[in-house]
Amino acid sequence: MNNFEFKNPTKIIFGKDTIEKVNQEIPENAKVLLLYGGGSIKKNGIYEQVKTALADVDVTEFGGIPANPEYATLIKALKVIKDEKITFLLAVGGGSVIDGTKFLSAAAVYDGDTPWDILTENVRTEKGMPFGTVLTLPATGSEMNSGAVITRAETKEKLAMGGPGLFPEFSILDPQVITSIPKRQLANGLTDAFTHVLEQYMTYPIGALLQDRFAESILQTLIEVAPTVLKDPTDYKAASNFMWSCTMALNGLIQKGVPTDWAVHAMGHELTALFGIDHARTLAVIAPSHYKFNFESKKEKLAQYAERVWKITEGSTDDKAYEAIVKTEAFFRELGIDTKLSEYTKDYEGTAEKISERFINRGWTKLGEHKSLTPENVEKIVKMAY
Ligand code: NAP
Ligand code: FE
Repeated sequence: MNNFEFKNPTKIIFGKDTIEKVNQEIPENAKVLLLYGGGSIKKNGIYEQVKTALADVDVTEFGGIPANPEYATLIKALKVIKDEKITFLLAVGGGSVIDGTKFLSAAAVYDGDTPWDILTENVRTEKGMPFGTVLTLPATGSEMNSGAVITRAETKEKLAMGGPGLFPEFSILDPQVITSIPKRQLANGLTDAFTHVLEQYMTYPIGALLQDRFAESILQTLIEVAPTVLKDPTDYKAASNFMWSCTMALNGLIQKGVPTDWAVHAMGHELTALFGIDHARTLAVIAPSHYKFNFESKKEKLAQYAERVWKITEGSTDDKAYEAIVKTEAFFRELGIDTKLSEYTKDYEGTAEKISERFINRGWTKLGEHKSLTPENVEKIVKMAY
């Protein structure tokens, strides 16, 4: 097992009817900016629940943060934070609203030239403006981690940021919120969380036995609850296990002591930036090709995954490893997620070259858990995903 340090300061308030507790978590005399997305919270009653709970709190609102939180919109929110002398941010939404809020938390205290530098120059935020979240969509784990991904439409870029100062102070997780989520987004959530686990688990060498079993148990739980979540999101047992699995998939725990990959996300982000494909769907497109391309180095882990998660016991290591990739792709397809780029766009020719060129320009020449994946490799993987 590799050496590690672990600290996750986010307080989780989990369960039925927990949104009403939000006022207990807001610091005294705070000037709060409530941030939300395209308005789903106004249709499903979450907005009302939050506003009722915050009746005695000084709240300003900023809505309209789009999916794949857009820099230009966030800059408008930053102005509100400064003009209104906001002291605390409250994100009410999914990964997009929470990530957008993390950017604002960092930008509010940033004194460099332009806040976009935070993304292009890998500025780590040691202490941002404090914020909390009310999660409305299980998927990203952003509610209990310190990372964010921000999009800039103007330049078709989607870049990551983070730092120890960007953990939420608290996150409220009421699994009942999933009842209003469209099927498409539920499938996205299952796929994103599943791939988060794979990025931290499908690596070599094998050394962290407990971490492996944590990871496998999250994958098994997602596979088990997926059909019920999609068929009947009012099923509380499925909803609550789905929600907690998504949080546990990316709250830092399973990545400790192991090498982590994240190349699937790096390539996937480009597909969102170039074509606007939902984040989770880009991962389902890239992951099967990525594991096929890196078969030799990952096959022992793939075979362990085959045995323990998919219960494949017959065949050689190679057979099991290959079957595991087939099962993974089939799982995404059963959720209704297409796994080939050509199923999303007719303009896919040239994408692999473009992504590889972008990586070279950014100096991203060594990806993967052993920094061995070159832009030429990336080009081949993306081509395999057409
Ligand atoms: P999302 O983009 O936050 O939301 C997707 C859609 O679902 C939006 O239209 C949203 O509507 C709607 N929605 C959310 N909650 C709903 C509810 N309870 N009922 C009905 N509709 C609801 O989706 P996401 O998958 O959570 O976030 C994706 C973003 O997170 C991407 O930008 C991705 O790159 C990023 N990400 C971040 C991390 C991380 O660790 N920080 C990890 C993976 C991915 P509204 O617009 O009205 O809210
Ligand atoms: Fe993700």
